[in-house]
Amino acid sequence: MPVQESMLQSIVREAQQWRRDIHAHPETAFEEFRTSKIVEEKLRSFGLDVHTGLAGTGVVATLDRGVGPHIAFRADMDALHIHEKNTFAHRSTVDGKMHACGHDGHTSMLLGAARYLSQYHDDLAGTLHFIFQPAEENEAGGKRMVEEGLFEKFPAEEVYGLHNWPGLPAGSITALNGPQMAAFDLFEIKITGSGTHAAMPHQGTDSIVAGSTLVSMLQTIVSRSVDPLDTAVVSVTQFHGGDTWNIIPEEVILRGCTRHFKIEVQEQIKAAMQRLCEHVSQAFQVEATLWYDERYPSVVNNATQADYSRQVARSIVSEDLVFDNLPPSMASEDFSFMLREVPGCYAWIGNGDGHESRSLHNPHYDFNDEILERGIRYWVGLAQHRLG
Ligand SMILES: [Zn+2]
Ligand SMILES: [Zn+2]
Repeated sequence: MPVQESMLQSIVREAQQWRRDIHAHPETAFEEFRTSKIVEEKLRSFGLDVHTGLAGTGVVATLDRGVGPHIAFRADMDALHIHEKNTFAHRSTVDGKMHACGHDGHTSMLLGAARYLSQYHDDLAGTLHFIFQPAEENEAGGKRMVEEGLFEKFPAEEVYGLHNWPGLPAGSITALNGPQMAAFDLFEIKITGSGTHAAMPHQGTDSIVAGSTLVSMLQTIVSRSVDPLDTAVVSVTQFHGGDTWNIIPEEVILRGCTRHFKIEVQEQIKAAMQRLCEHVSQAFQVEATLWYDERYPSVVNNATQADYSRQVARSIVSEDLVFDNLPPSMASEDFSFMLREVPGCYAWIGNGDGHESRSLHNPHYDFNDEILERGIRYWVGLAQHRLG
């Protein structure tokens, strides 16, 4: 069934208003009360079956069109702790909070598709769940939805996500086979020595020297322990210790994060960190204890669903705006928790490649309203492809 153009255009105009309203009222992790309420009310007004309360502010709406496949589409609703520097009319009205990752656009595109599909598509066969999740940034709202029974309550054989991507041509679609975004873990190493007078270092054990040696040794994990054909990053981002000139402090704290794409590489990194901590402890007579927190797994697309995604993309944009061969990003996304449960595809929609397209998390960033239409068409096309 072809898309009904006049209906689609009127939904796109509405979606722009929703997008700007949500942009002006950003809410951060698990506090998306206003946004969630708006999403819920709109989905109900489209006649969909709406469920609230998963992961607190999460909303799931179901379009039931009888016997057929079960699929799920996901958008994120949360904003960031950034003070917006834009001056346009729809800029943030909340000091220190901003939609700098375009989740206002993601929510509006999926709402637009829900509106279109619920009202103008009787020819679909199957079940479509629209998932609106909280707390994608830092707090793993997607993981919490899965843990609270997302796919038991709303079974799906395939799940799809869409994120805008500054630096890629506006409205282009990128879907990679395999990893598209890296995994992200945090670590903290506490080094406890025996504090002493700086003039008499032999009377204590030096946590500063042990810590700085350990920082250098951690650099060997990627260069010496990880297969050169795999990708990983180990970054020490904090080094805390001491508070005066003439005392060797008792304790030093190192903190940082790691990025990688494979569980085997994650295991190698963890094991190497543990080993280095033990040996530095022995060598310097200190105690180095590692805390390692696995945060977001890598976003790994299933090749079959990535292919569906590109087929749909080619039906709505020209061939030269559909990419399958870009390098994955070292940034991370909690859609990975959904992809670990259900095969699917996470695609990027280009937010524009001109200088006006600021990077994600920049205080001058804004979601490009010109791509709302493309995003809605993508979702509608995917529903037609999978349930048509
Ligand atoms: Zn973000
Ligand atoms: Zn984001």
